[in-house]
Amino acid sequence: MSVRANLEEIKSTLQANMSSGDNPSLPNVIAVTKYVTIERAKEAYEAGVRHFGENRIEGFLAKKEALPDDVTMHFIGSLQSRKVKEVINDVDYLHALDRKSLAKEIDKRADHTINCFVQVNVSGEETKHGVTLDEVMPFIEMLQQYEHIRVVGLMTMAPYTDDQPYLKSIFEQLKHKRDEIQAHKLAHAPCTELSMGMSNDYAIAAEAGATFVRIGTRLVGKEE
Ligand SMILES: *Cc1c(COP(=O)(O)O)cnc(C)c1O
Repeated sequence: MSVRANLEEIKSTLQANMSSGDNPSLPNVIAVTKYVTIERAKEAYEAGVRHFGENRIEGFLAKKEALPDDVTMHFIGSLQSRKVKEVINDVDYLHALDRKSLAKEIDKRADHTINCFVQVNVSGEETKHGVTLDEVMPFIEMLQQYEHIRVVGLMTMAPYTDDQPYLKSIFEQLKHKRDEIQAHKLAHAPCTELSMGMSNDYAIAAEAGATFVRIGTRLVGKEE
């Protein structure tokens, strides 16, 4: 399938799900290109995609280099503190801020304010990165000391399951936490965004209020 055809399908699915939710505008679609070539990423650009996501430094820098300048680059994977300096100033949005040591290193290496999502492990699965729901507020308050960090929102990866009511509850819990933080009006943490939803669950995430969905397989495919 062409990226263009996949994108049309995704957009119409998003549209259909928005009308039943209370979120006014369509989420931004981030094309997760970690499984595919630079050529395929360029095809996504030609189809109109402007948000790109990668979870490894090498792939991130290669795609950024190859794509036109008007793209927004999202680093969606966990980042080792010792590698922060290799990539941080090329990142438009970092989706996986989940520990103090990483925040400290970002603050040290960044030459401008970095837009960060705090990653939340809503389900409590041991294999997942992220702070727990209860830790989000104190973690964000702690981040105030780092002048180069702006918390733009919360991010989660839901468990891989077909249990739709369960997925819905995961995304709704993240939205409630986002609303709670936003209500505090912290200068360093406007927290207006919600990065949630992947190939398997983006429609449910959109309905629950996602502002960014991160889609790989369903949009650009997966090369084995
Ligand atoms: C790989 C990845 C995605 C996209 O996964 P698909 O299931 O292929 O859509 C989204 N978010 C993160 C953090 C990822 O690592």
